[in-house]
Amino acid sequence: MSGSAYLGMPAFPEAAATATRDAGLRANLRHATHTIRDKRAAAVAELPDWSALRAAGAAVKDRTLRHLDHYLEQLESAVTAAGGRVHWAADAAEANRIVTGLVLATGEREVVKVKSMATQETGLNGALARAGIRAYETDLPELIVQLGGDLPSHILVPAIHRNRSEIRDIFREHMGRWGRPAPEDLSDSPAALAEAARLHLREKFLGAKVGISGANFMVAETGTLVVVESEGNGRMCLTLPETLISVVGIEKLVPTWQDLEIYLQSLPRSSTAERMNPYTSTWTGTTDEDGPRASHLVLLDNGRTDALADTVGRRALRCIRCSACLNVCPVYERAGGHAYGSPYPGPIGAVLTPQLRGVTSALDASLPYASSLCGACYEVCPVAIDIPEILVHLRERVVQGGPVTRNGVKTVLRPAKGHAAERAAMRAAAWAFDHPGALRTGQRLAARTRRLHPRRLPGPGRAWSDTRDLPAVPAESFRDWWRRTRGEEDGV
Ligand code: SF4
Repeated sequence: MSGSAYLGMPAFPEAAATATRDAGLRANLRHATHTIRDKRAAAVAELPDWSALRAAGAAVKDRTLRHLDHYLEQLESAVTAAGGRVHWAADAAEANRIVTGLVLATGEREVVKVKSMATQETGLNGALARAGIRAYETDLPELIVQLGGDLPSHILVPAIHRNRSEIRDIFREHMGRWGRPAPEDLSDSPAALAEAARLHLREKFLGAKVGISGANFMVAETGTLVVVESEGNGRMCLTLPETLISVVGIEKLVPTWQDLEIYLQSLPRSSTAERMNPYTSTWTGTTDEDGPRASHLVLLDNGRTDALADTVGRRALRCIRCSACLNVCPVYERAGGHAYGSPYPGPIGAVLTPQLRGVTSALDASLPYASSLCGACYEVCPVAIDIPEILVHLRERVVQGGPVTRNGVKTVLRPAKGHAAERAAMRAAAWAFDHPGALRTGQRLAARTRRLHPRRLPGPGRAWSDTRDLPAVPAESFRDWWRRTRGEEDGV
């Protein structure tokens, strides 16, 4: 995975330290995430079969991932039979090359875009700009990000770090450079901001001959692509242009329409706390005298089959990008989305990005540590991804190295630099748990000297204890308590 805008960003601890000093950012994030998390909880509580829906969503995704090759071929046949064209992109550069070539072949130099995290992942807008093509984002938060020369910081609400008065200033200052300017006297009321965006975007929709989209789902049995959205911009982008190019990650497959039904229930409640999202658009190839004349589907791998080779890590590919895990994450709430250095922030980003990009850069190796492992993300995930388990798995990969698959080739990863103290501590812990006598002696010694323990660790452990309280050693170990209260030590 690559996206030029994210290249060279600092490791998570460094970026998060800067973000947490920004009181305005923290206030914007806290307000937005707390509002949506409460609404989500209420929307989910309305469904008596939520846990069954969640289990079904996980099971269908797991089965699809196990047979991904079969379903992808089925999808390709169905899309082709319906008059669409399928293109396969192994990585970001290939996807960008294909899309740029397709746009240039139409003779157009402007495109409208909707709902495509995959193109954020590939850095498509930059590639199009280098080829002389201007891309207009039409999702309201994406528009704010684009006008502000910014990067997305949330899966669903990419401009979540901006408040209303910041958005008004961005519209007033920058809209004119991209098309219809904002009114001079634009206020920061939601209605006024929405109206300014509507008028600005309407010109784009009506003039565009090429649309670029993502998709929330692809239905293998019929070759149908699905976009769910709230603003109606997706419907405009998907139906008005003459050429439609959809860039979609290969994991977005579901085998049948019946499977799709599960996610059309769980996604809106988890993401926007709605019983049903306002717009669900589906399209299958091309249709005479209705919609685009040419429909292209670019299937993006970009590290996904490498992730699939990891039986623990692959569960992250179940993700339906609802963003519920971001909204409950105490780390995301304080650090914000930019600190994750990827279009996928928050808990899901912390497990997805290091799998798609590998863990060789300092930023990617730091992401599995961007969590308190509190488990709130797992609790809310509508497809039951055990994110804490994957985080621990990836931490082990960073610290110990070991076998991984990169670009389809099995290789052995070396341990990352800077984790020697952690490795030594884990080796010492493993030895102690293998030697109960030594463990008992160590526990008693620690209990007796507990008043002398430092509040911070010395040496390399300092970085760890600088940001958290050291756990207090109890006055009595569990073994000693058991013997004192039960009089024997059997089984302990
Ligand atoms: S990991 Fe789960 S909760 Fe987070 S965005 Fe994906 S589906 Fe939603």
